Order: sequence, then C-alpha cells, then structure tokens
Amino acid sequence: MDELLDATAALAAEYLNSAGTRPVARPVSLEEMVAAIGTDLPDEGVDPLRVVQDLARDADPGLVLTTGGRFFGFVEGGVLPAARAADWLASTWDQNPGFYALSPAAAAVEEICRRWLCDLLGVPGTWSAGFTTGAQLANFTGLAAARHHVLTEAGWDLERRGLFGAPPVTVVVGRERHATIDRALRFLGIGSDQLAVVDVDDQGRMRADALATHLTGGPTIVCAQAGNVNTGAVDPLGEICDRAHAHGAWVHVDGAFGAWAAASPELKHLTDGLERADSLAIDGHKWLNVPYDCGVVLCARPDAHRTAMRLAADYLVRDGERHGSDWTPESSRRARAFAVYAALRSLGRLGVAQLVERSCAQARQIAETLAADDDVEVLNEVTLNQVLIRLGDDERTRRAAAAIQRDGATWLGTTSWQGRVAIRISVSDYATDDAAIETLVAALRES
Ligand SMILES: *Cc1c(COP(=O)(O)O)cnc(C)c1O
Repeated sequence: MDELLDATAALAAEYLNSAGTRPVARPVSLEEMVAAIGTDLPDEGVDPLRVVQDLARDADPGLVLTTGGRFFGFVEGGVLPAARAADWLASTWDQNPGFYALSPAAAAVEEICRRWLCDLLGVPGTWSAGFTTGAQLANFTGLAAARHHVLTEAGWDLERRGLFGAPPVTVVVGRERHATIDRALRFLGIGSDQLAVVDVDDQGRMRADALATHLTGGPTIVCAQAGNVNTGAVDPLGEICDRAHAHGAWVHVDGAFGAWAAASPELKHLTDGLERADSLAIDGHKWLNVPYDCGVVLCARPDAHRTAMRLAADYLVRDGERHGSDWTPESSRRARAFAVYAALRSLGRLGVAQLVERSCAQARQIAETLAADDDVEVLNEVTLNQVLIRLGDDERTRRAAAAIQRDGATWLGTTSWQGRVAIRISVSDYATDDAAIETLVAALRES
C-alpha cells in the first residue's frame, strides 16, 4: 500500500509541477481518448500500481488544466493546496456523511463549515446548510424548501398529497437566470411555461420594480441571482427581498460564485440584502477553490429545508445528531466538507476576502488593458470577476476563441450577450498571477 500511495503522490506532484508549462487543453476527440485509455475489460485483474500509472499516462492528453491559473473559461476555480490534501484524505477515509453513525467526524466538519460560512457570508448563524455536488443541486434543494414552505402556508401538505391538485405556485425568475434554475424547477414539477419571467437591466440584473405585477399574495417563489455568468452582475437583492417578503413570497438566491462577494468588506455592498433571503446556493468548487464536486445550500428556515429533504427510515438513530441526508437530496455521499474546512481554515477570514478581491482586481486590470486595444470592445461593467469582450464582429470573435483553445497557452470560451457573440473571461483561480494575465492578453492580441 505504501508503494502505491507514494507512486500516486509522485504522479500527482508531477502533474502539479507541470502546471506552469503544460498546455491548458489539447484538441482531442472522444474516440482518440477512448482508444488511448481503453483496453478490453480484463478477465484477470491488473496490478493496482500498473492500473494507476497507465491511467495517469493515457489520460494525460485529455486532462484540462483548470487549476494553475491560466484557465479563464466558464467559471471554474482552481484548487487550494490544503483543500486538495484534505480531499485526498476524504477519499482515503471513505467517510459517508449521510448518517451520523457513519461519520461523526464528517458531521462535525459540516457543522463547523455551516457556522463559518454563515459568518463569512454575513447571514444569520441559525441558517441550515447542506453540502451538495454543486450549485445545481444547491439550487434544487433551496427551491424544494421554498416549494414546501409556500405550499404549507397555503394549507397544502405537499409531503403527503404531492403536487397534483396543489394550489398553483407562482415562480418568478429573471430573464438572465442560470439554466440550472430551470432544470431544478423542472425536477420540482414546475415547467418552463409556468415561469413568470421578469426583465433585466443592461447588465442582466433583475429589475426589482418589474416584480410587482407577479406578487399577488398566492404561493410565490422569487429566484434572484448573485453573479450573472456573463457579466458577474448581482441582482438588487435587498429590494427584491423587501418587495417579495411584503407579499409573503420566498426568495431563493442563486449565488453560485457571486455570493462570495459577501465575504469581502470591499465588495460586500454588491450583495446587500443577501442576509434577508430565504435560501442561497453557492459553489465551493468555483471561487472557493476546492476540488470537484462541492456546492452548499444555506437556508433561513431549517424546518422547511429539513422537511423538504428528510429521509425517514426506522433504523436511523437521530436525536441530537447531524445527518447529512436531512439537508441534501442524496442519501450516501462523499464527505466533501473536509475540503471546505481545509480551504477556509488555510485562508482564514482575510484570505477568503483577499482571494475574492484579487480576482476582481485582476478582472478590472484585464478589462482596462484590453479596452486600450483598438479592436477590443469590453461589453460589461466589470464589478466582479467576469469580463465580456468582443473582437470586431461575431465571426472574428469566434475565430479568436477557437484559435486560443487550439493553441493551449490559455483557455477562453464564447457566449452570446445581447444577441452578439462575446468572449467570456472569468478570473476565479487563486493561482492566477501576473504571468497568467500576460499570457491571456498576449493570446488575445495574437489571435
Ligand atoms: C456554475 C453556476 C451554476 C451551476 O453550478 P454547478 O456547480 O455547475 O452545479 C448555477 N448558477 C450559477 C450562477 C453558476 O455560475
């Protein structure tokens, strides 16, 4: 076992040490990768060391270097050293936080992270927390709690009677919501034609004044957003909460990456009102820089959260214990909070704020540098860590991104913004430094 672990650690170190020089990504087809990695399923087992060494060698051309600071596509985030190491231990320990009896340690770490996250994000320390695969399931969980609560208020016992025949629930979303909101709602029995879609401003922020027509006093859920995936803009959360709560509506905030602004004294003003929301989804694997997979749902109404998720089984001992399965849709699952604990403790309060502030300062620096170029147009107000640019026309912008993706020095993706093709630059890796930014700017200028 020691030999296998040492060899694996050496492979990991080799990968991490190559981060400065290896291509961020290589164009490679699925067929090529399957051919490189796959063999026929062996009848006889293969030596574990050989399995791991072959895998590391053969998978290499298809590995995308989302860590290391030169990846600016989507909103990805790198991996902090302490988080990576703690995540190794989580796999080694094979802990299941679904039930207290299966890991008092994982339960304790989830409880500690719950307290720390409430503190960092400036929400009341009474909020409940569930550790999910990502913001998709955090959105699902928060919206499930919302659905339970608004139907309970309308006198409907959702857990017993189900959704058929229930009073209609009005779900209000901004035109610029993330696609995972639609999918979460679909899983919850709410289809796309049933959404009340409200207008957004030029940065993609929900217009709070446009909410009025949809707030009629019936069971209502408002889905707000902190961090538009294109512009980084944050909805006016305080005004949305005030208006929605005046009519008894639940406010869920999809804050996958943007809610981390709340952890920075400098940027906190962007998320004013977050503490008055009813539920919040955030990602760990994006801006907090923990490995995949990790998201967190926080909820101002622990009872609604738990009733919506609760797994009832006679053999589960419950009193005074934390069962992870009460707070997420999963039963057994990965102990992903160990990595969250390690990330938060290794950064400290100041380190979390600095991580967020530094990314935002780098985004501003990138925008200012590029805006000085004749053929570059910066399309958004850079208030957070997202920069949207356009080079000439749609065709030229697409070609530039494709050339950069082929080259491998850095990675940028395209998006569509207000009907035009744009390149999206997301700064969310603690490892992004001046050299990485120079590489990005040079790649764009040469493309
Ligand atoms: C990334 C993202 C999601 C989905 O998060 P996953 O971690 O991929 O599940 C949801 N909402 C927003 C705003 C995001 O940026």
